Amino acid sequence: MTESPPKAPFTTNNVGIPVESDEHSLTLGPDGPILLQDHYTIEKMAQFNRERVPERVVHAKGSGAYGFFEVTNDVSQFTKADLFQPGRRTEMLARFSTVAGEQGSPDTWRDPRGFALKFYTDHGNYDLVGNNTPVFFVRDTIKFQDFIHSQKRHPATGLRSNDMQWDFWTLSPESAHQVTWLMGDRGIPRTYRHMNGYGSHTYMWINGAGERFWVKYHFKTDQGIDYLPQAEADELAGHDADKHRRDLHESIASGNAPSWSLKVQIMPFDDAADYRFNPFDLTKVWPHGDYPLIDVGRMVLDRNPEDFFVHIEQAAFEPSNMVPGIGPSPDKMLLGRLFSYPDTHRYRIGANYTQLPPNRPHAPVNSYSRDGSMRYTPSNASMPYAPNSYGGPAADFGNRFGDPAGWAAAGEMVREAYTPHREDDDFGQPGTMVREVLDDAQRDRLVSNVSGHLLQGVTKPVLERAIQYWRNIDAGVGDRIAKKVNGG
Ligand code: NDP
Repeated sequence: MTESPPKAPFTTNNVGIPVESDEHSLTLGPDGPILLQDHYTIEKMAQFNRERVPERVVHAKGSGAYGFFEVTNDVSQFTKADLFQPGRRTEMLARFSTVAGEQGSPDTWRDPRGFALKFYTDHGNYDLVGNNTPVFFVRDTIKFQDFIHSQKRHPATGLRSNDMQWDFWTLSPESAHQVTWLMGDRGIPRTYRHMNGYGSHTYMWINGAGERFWVKYHFKTDQGIDYLPQAEADELAGHDADKHRRDLHESIASGNAPSWSLKVQIMPFDDAADYRFNPFDLTKVWPHGDYPLIDVGRMVLDRNPEDFFVHIEQAAFEPSNMVPGIGPSPDKMLLGRLFSYPDTHRYRIGANYTQLPPNRPHAPVNSYSRDGSMRYTPSNASMPYAPNSYGGPAADFGNRFGDPAGWAAAGEMVREAYTPHREDDDFGQPGTMVREVLDDAQRDRLVSNVSGHLLQGVTKPVLERAIQYWRNIDAGVGDRIAKKVNGG
């Protein structure tokens, strides 16, 4: 006996009322005008017109999945954060993305990749909103908007412009480390599964005794690092623009759940003042020899979202979501992001975005915030103000959760760069990468990638500055780039 297909439910409108037709609008006779009382047709048209929310200004094209994080090593001497305690397993969401491209742009353009994580801990959501690179192009949040404008489309032509990119980079020498990284193999990962993730910023960890540490996060891919050569990436951009989205989805759907091992570098709180590099400068790493990696745990992505828009497009990550045991640092990029991420979500998906499925905490919310557009979970505070006499939630007066608020700071209000530490300079660490980390074949591809990029529309004087920029990073590599660009 053949099984009959399950009976499909009646179509309804958005409030559950059965509808008569999805074929024909209501007209005055078969050939007459459409009637205004056909509210179902009107609902379909009106709803369709409102299907899009503004795309993210940066990191617009992304992919993601749910999974879990489990602790494999005891780091409780450094942090009391719930999710990092021995034996803990925490549900999580990850979203990977490109940075400059729009929603429909190819996954395989050369670009850093976002590596945004949300952990649904017992003390609320912890978001770690990093990249697949440990450093960034700028170190002060006031430059971020200009940087992004230089990477996106030219206002007059609507075209991306390598000239704008190199103009900004060469006038901002602090970009050299990240540009070196970007132009190397890791600038185009083979898939999202084959890249590392880094918290990038320095954060604070606080242990149960109230002691503070500085921390950097490294999520090492268990699939191994792999990259796409420029030619293969260009070809894929044409025939499979969604290559990385497809790979992540298909991999998880076939039971091949990707995983990453979390390791951290820990710096004792008092080391920061005299460390040879400014440990809060986002354009620098802490060399592993100074602060070795310590195992923490493993993250596994094993569940595709059931609806891409609901769970990934509406996902809202924000570095300001820090749970007890974790705090910010004096990194000026991080401090800017603490404001800017929740602000962009309020604009993009509304004031009550934390009630949307991917953003809703698994921990109870006892907040006095209320009302606003699209509010659908009532506040569970019995009275709308604090303090109150009617049993409403009370803040952590006993300091059960409270962390030291931060760090000591004093001084005149100024607009100045960070105070330099003894080995701080913009070209030192990228030079180390070029000379000591890359092998000959990787250096060859770096030279080829940079010169290929410069030959696409970069003109004098930017071109001359770009060659000098590379000579500052490494004289040999700079000379080789000059030769290629000048037709040698
Ligand atoms: P190490 O020799 O201990 O580490 C070098 C690191 O470079 C590797 O562990 C790897 O990071 C990373 N790496 C390897 N190949 C590439 C590549 N093609 N593009 C980008 N990164 C790559 O040296 P140090 O820690 O003393 O750092 C030396 C230089 O390495 C730094 O100046 C920096 O440019 C770069 N680097 C350092 C990192 C750090 O956190 N210390 C992280 C990444 C790069 P991973 O193991 O994370 O894959």
